[in-house]
Amino acid sequence: MKYFSTRGGSHKLSFEETVLTGLAPNGGLYIPESIPSLPSDWKTKWKSHSFVNLSVAVLSLYISRDEISEADLRLLVQRSYQTFRHPEVTPLIKLGDKRYVLELFHGPTFAFKDVALQLLGNLFEFFLLRRNARKGAGEKPEKLTVVGATSGDTGSAAIYGLRNKANISIFILHPKGRVSPIQEAQMTTVTDANVHNLAVQGTFDDCQDIVKSLFGDADFNATHRLGAVNSINWARILAQTVYYFSSYFHIQAQLPPAVNVEDIEIQYVVPTGNFGDILAGYYAKRMGLPMAKLVVATNANDILARFWNDGKYEKVDSAAGLGGSDGRQATSSSGVKETLSPAMDILVSSNFERLLWYLAYENAGTGEPSRMTSACDTLAGWMSSMKSDGRVEVPVDVLELARRDFLAKRISDEQTLQTILSHFEANPSYIADPHTAVGLAAGQMVASNNATYQIMLSTAHPAKFSEAVSLALRGQPAFNFERDVLPGEFVGLLDKQRNVIGVEKADIDLVKAVIEGFAERDPSSETVAGL
Ligand SMILES: *Cc1c(COP(=O)(O)O)cnc(C)c1O
Repeated sequence: MKYFSTRGGSHKLSFEETVLTGLAPNGGLYIPESIPSLPSDWKTKWKSHSFVNLSVAVLSLYISRDEISEADLRLLVQRSYQTFRHPEVTPLIKLGDKRYVLELFHGPTFAFKDVALQLLGNLFEFFLLRRNARKGAGEKPEKLTVVGATSGDTGSAAIYGLRNKANISIFILHPKGRVSPIQEAQMTTVTDANVHNLAVQGTFDDCQDIVKSLFGDADFNATHRLGAVNSINWARILAQTVYYFSSYFHIQAQLPPAVNVEDIEIQYVVPTGNFGDILAGYYAKRMGLPMAKLVVATNANDILARFWNDGKYEKVDSAAGLGGSDGRQATSSSGVKETLSPAMDILVSSNFERLLWYLAYENAGTGEPSRMTSACDTLAGWMSSMKSDGRVEVPVDVLELARRDFLAKRISDEQTLQTILSHFEANPSYIADPHTAVGLAAGQMVASNNATYQIMLSTAHPAKFSEAVSLALRGQPAFNFERDVLPGEFVGLLDKQRNVIGVEKADIDLVKAVIEGFAERDPSSETVAGL
């Protein structure tokens, strides 16, 4: 399987190149040259697979055997998911009649990003070790310097994915004092020599600007071989397709004996920010996993909900007039609204570009092979309007295509709190984190009375977002945060030794100096055992 950029160009990449490159040089995202279909016997053959075996089966459809052998892939996947606390990795929990949550937060940092980043770290390490093993004596080993900015979740999942990996250094910038105490502790208590936390005096947007400028600095990039772990990396999407399949088999196992999985319809509801998690569901659907329309659940940062409403993809809600529909809500300098579900506070959804490509492709009136080129050209045009005007409006036919596979709902902070409370009071009682609650609320909005079973993706453990959970459940005598929510792993975390470098000003040169200072010191392949 080869990969190409959504914005065109004739160059096709191997899986390895795709994963190591991240973003295409022309600004596009890599997608596979075709979406593989499932083997005809998948329902019987995969039914009893463990999560690891299911991952190997699904990933193998997208990775050529001559790039990674089945045995190596299995080792990489095993290594990635043995860090999870639950034997099923992503268990499916029944909430009530025809309602389930798919818990994706049993990895090391208690958020769903672990599912993808644990694998990504192992893939990076595998590729670098193999490249270096092929080098002659005296040749410099290839190293990767991963740089990222975080407001919380991504940073800790990336650090846990890359800690102690050979030939990789990781530098994560966070705005000093503006990350929740638990998230800050999760990042800064990792003491592996290749992990560097930079606490920058500034905002998240400042951190992100510095990272963008570093990637834009050709010299610096070439010297340090910068790598990105943000959600546009293809390996992250691919890793996330697996739990759609695992939940299909888990729901089958939980259905009453009289109900056949062939006779029901399954609807996935996904709390969405950068459109990575739900895009993985779209791939699963296109591969042939039976499901109803996917439900995009957004918070007040509702660019996607607005798109599905009117076909306009625009940073600022032009229909709402000045100030937007949440005039009273805190808005950062970049225009992002601050909500109770901060991991979904985005202005644009980076992975949405991949879906737009498929829509452009389907809508192209020409035959192969010019149809692919035409889709790339259309998409590149849309993205260039986005860049210059902050908005693009797709033709109505394209909107109809988007509506064939998706529904979208926007959930307010009030609804989020109300949903946490109502699920706590329900029987069985369930304590949801605010991101999961956005999905639960959207699921209730679109629920129908027919044979549809809903699976809401749960993206974080409630202890990670204790402020929203405690706010929703304040005054509930039956609720006790320490007893009901706090995992043992978090106890004492705030008192552990910290590994953090202060950066006294949001200044790119200060950050460069930190990275350069560590460039020669971080451990390389000799010090860490390979596969
Ligand atoms: C990243 C994140 C999301 C959003 O996922 P996308 O793939 O960006 O749509 C939702 N919830 C939590 C807790 C997250 O960390």
